[in-house]
Parts: sequence; C-alpha cells; structure tokens
Amino acid sequence: MTTSREIQLAARPRGMPRPTDFALVEVDVPEPGDGEVLIRNAYMSVDPYMRGRMNDVKSYVPPFQLGEALNGGAVGQIIASRSDRFTEGTWVVHNLGWRELALSDGRGLFAFDPALAPVSTGLGVLGMPGLTAYVGLLDIGRPRPGETVFVSGAAGAVGSAVGQIAKLKGCRVIGSAGSPEKVAWLRELGFDEAFDYHVVSARDALSEGIDLYFDNVGGPTLEAALSALRKHGRVVACGAVSQYNAIEPAPGPRNLAFVVGKRLRIEGFIISDHIDRTPAFLADMATWVRDGAVRYRETVVEGIENAPAAFIGLLEGENIGKMLVKVGPEP
Ligand code: NDP
Repeated sequence: MTTSREIQLAARPRGMPRPTDFALVEVDVPEPGDGEVLIRNAYMSVDPYMRGRMNDVKSYVPPFQLGEALNGGAVGQIIASRSDRFTEGTWVVHNLGWRELALSDGRGLFAFDPALAPVSTGLGVLGMPGLTAYVGLLDIGRPRPGETVFVSGAAGAVGSAVGQIAKLKGCRVIGSAGSPEKVAWLRELGFDEAFDYHVVSARDALSEGIDLYFDNVGGPTLEAALSALRKHGRVVACGAVSQYNAIEPAPGPRNLAFVVGKRLRIEGFIISDHIDRTPAFLADMATWVRDGAVRYRETVVEGIENAPAAFIGLLEGENIGKMLVKVGPEP
C-alpha cells in the first residue's frame, strides 16, 4: 500500500469554476492485483470538455461524481505491473489523470515511446488535441488548396494545429485568439492573418470572406463566421468554449438562415468516434513535428495541488498551446 494525492470534485461549479469546487485529497493506493498496473503520472491534461462533465447533465460522457477523483488524459510510467501486456518501465498515455498514482486494469492504456518526442506531447500535439485538429480539419472540413480557412481559439492546443495543417494543405489561414502575445505567435507559425477578438470584431476581420470555419468557441464568433462564409462553405463544429460556463443557454446565431441560402454544411464530431484514424494521424503528425512543419507550445503548471488553478486558467485563456499540469518525474 502506498499513498497518492488526487483532485476530487467538491461542488458542482455554477458559471466559472472556483478553487473551492475542488479538493486535494490523500488516498491509499493498493498494490496492483492480477492484470493491473500502477502508473506514476508525469503530466495530466486539463481540457475544456471537462467543464461539461462537472455539470450533472446527460451528455456524450457521464458527469463527474461529487467526492470522487476527476479523470482525464495523463501520461506516466508503469512502476509496478501484474499485466501480461504492459511491462514495468513502459510509458503510457491513459485516462486516469488528476492524480499522482493511478491503478489501472489496462483498459484505455496506450504505450508512448519517449524516444519519439517529449512525453508531454502525448497529451497535446501527438495526442487527443492533435488528433482532433487532424480529423476535424481533414475529414470533416475537407479543405481544398487555395481556400480560406478561419479557426477560432487558434492559439490553443487544437486551434494551433488546425491552422498549421491547413497551411500545409495549401490554404490561406486566419486565426483569432485572446491576446497580443497569442496573435504574435500565430504570425510566427505562418498564419496569413491573426487578430485579437477583444480588439477587432470577427465580422470586420472576416470581411473578405471565408470557405471553411473550424469552430472552437461558438457564440458571436460563429455568427460572424456564418455571415462571412461563401457559397458551399463548411463549419466544423468542434467546440463552443465561450459557452461552457454559461448558466443560461445563449441564443443561437441570428443568421442561421444563411445555411440555406449559401448551401452551407455544419458538421459536428466527437473525437472518440475517430480513434481508427490514430495510425494515419501519428504517421503524419510525428513527421510534421520532427521536420518543424508543425510547431507546438505548452503551458505547464507545476504540482497536482495547482491543477484546479490550471483548469480555471485554461477557461480564462491563460494558456498558449496545450495546458498541462506536471505531477511527477518525466524521463
Ligand atoms: P484550448 O487550448 O484552445 O484552451 C481553451 C481556450 O479557449 C483558451 O486558451 C481561451 O483562449 C479560449 N477561450 C476561453 N473563453 C473564450 C471565449 N469566451 N471566447 C473565445 N475563446 C475563449 O483548448 P483545446 O485546444 O483543448 O480545445 C479547443 C476546443 O476544442 C474546445 O472548444 C474543446 O471543447 C474542443 N474539443 C473538441 C473535441 C471534440 O471531440 N469535438 C476534442 C477536443 C477539444 P483565448 O485567449 O484565445 O480566449
């Protein structure tokens, strides 16, 4: 028996989460039983979708339970194994984050080779957010060379990858983000245009028209994109982070009738339905990252005790690139 610290949900947030909605708890962790492994996490992920799981509502993933550890993406090393499939010392990406030590029955565990890239990338550019960008843009959005792609939340984990993949596919790329520093980074990444949506309205920034909108934020930006889309334009509905803390549902876009007149296609997707695309994604993305064709940044918060602050910071836009929490040693 050993002990581990974990973050539990203490109260269901109303609006923006507060530190008191979370509790840091020390728990006993038993030795692995037959078929089980014990993982020491190096990094855990905080992701916008976790905000929805804090509400007691039915969705595509079940809600978190009060008084129980939260979960989500993590990467760590197996420090004890009684599994035939995973040996001690193996690095794995898995879904038992928000804790220092994780006891796993081996389900949902994927080996990650630390020689490929820093293990933190298994939660970002080479992990779920990277796959989301790849599948969302290429399979759902299907961009053609010469088209103009607009991506919101462009300096985040998903958005920064979307913009760079669109450039690789020969598109003109416009990105929106929430600070001058983020906008400067998007220009460094090769975005053709980037704007701070606190300063410039999306309506003005998109006045020349767009062909494809990769929507990470919803709300007024979606409305502006619907106005800016050309005939046969597409919207990839990936997320709506501007709405995740809303206490009352916001009214829908007032200009939805453009969908008919402009023959638009709006298509949502959930990345867990597209896991079969992982091998193609990893082959392409690992090459792009190695060659510098896709660059990434990470904002790392130290210590499991600071995970709630990291999560709140993510929703407040404190991250550039992937938001991570370092909870243990890395290779
Ligand atoms: P990000 O790294 O983009 O972090 C969230 C960002 O949201 C913040 O950095 C902030 O950036 C932005 N933000 C917060 N509030 C607002 C607001 N009111 N208006 C506009 N932007 C806001 O997160 P991810 O890259 O992990 O996720 C991006 C989106 O993709 C989310 O909507 C997420 O839910 C979705 N997603 C969907 C998946 C799917 O399967 N469909 C899978 C994974 C992610 P800023 O400073 O620019 O405001």
